[in-house]
Amino acid sequence: MSKKAKYPVDLHCHTTASDGTLKPADLVDLAAGRGLRAIGLTDHDTIEGWNAAEKAAQKIGITLIKGIEINTDWQGREIHILGYGMDGDNISFKNHLYDLQEKRVLRVKKIIDKLTGLGLEISFEEVNGFSKGESIGRPHVAQALVKKGYVENTQMAFNYFLKIGAPAYVPRYKLHPEQAVRIIRNAGGVAILAHPGAQEISFKQIHELVTAGLQGIEICHPDHSPEQIITYKKIANSLGIIATGGSDYHGPEIKKDIEIGDWGVSMEDLANLLQIYDR
Ligand SMILES: [Zn+2]
Ligand SMILES: [Zn+2]
Repeated sequence: MSKKAKYPVDLHCHTTASDGTLKPADLVDLAAGRGLRAIGLTDHDTIEGWNAAEKAAQKIGITLIKGIEINTDWQGREIHILGYGMDGDNISFKNHLYDLQEKRVLRVKKIIDKLTGLGLEISFEEVNGFSKGESIGRPHVAQALVKKGYVENTQMAFNYFLKIGAPAYVPRYKLHPEQAVRIIRNAGGVAILAHPGAQEISFKQIHELVTAGLQGIEICHPDHSPEQIITYKKIANSLGIIATGGSDYHGPEIKKDIEIGDWGVSMEDLANLLQIYDR
């Protein structure tokens, strides 16, 4: 863990503000300890981690890139849109985030109803206790099921109850990726397609999103094969959009082979991103 990160910049990290296990300040300290010069904080559907991370980043002397990852659905696939540099005080942006949180709460309540119907008793308060009030979702339901002794671990909770096709599955509220791109850009941010290789997004689809305002794609990501990295790099070049990258870090306990900063971008790539926004 103490060894130096492979990249100076990791643009894709999660904290306890969504489904990560490290607090924003601890994530920043870890990044600095591994020699990173900048990190992008991209919690799902929330910017609640920004302030604490910014304070920690200023103290320790690294650059914080304020970001977000918005979950959307498109043509039967889950598509994630990353945003960087939005104005966190933009009223319409804040309203959109509030709306997304509300829909997450509603979904969890429906899941709990289904679990109750199956004879598993967990309350919204128990689940909410695991989310610490931020970006509630299935991982927190899974943790509550483990705590209640219904399953041995969270993976089993997903397999038996929560994943697509399982008896307590409830589909997410579906946002179109173009809507996410608009939400990000209207707040002054840069919109990037996250890990396109994980969903095998084609050139044609990326082109369509670029027409709708997408400005770049994430290329260096643990879910991408070396071949995909080459393919997507070519796509980015041919469309004249920027390339980003990051580890999608969720904390030391989650995906143990993934270390912060072992996927990322060069200082030059960071400069390309910063050139588009000046916040
Ligand atoms: Zn993602
Ligand atoms: Zn992510």
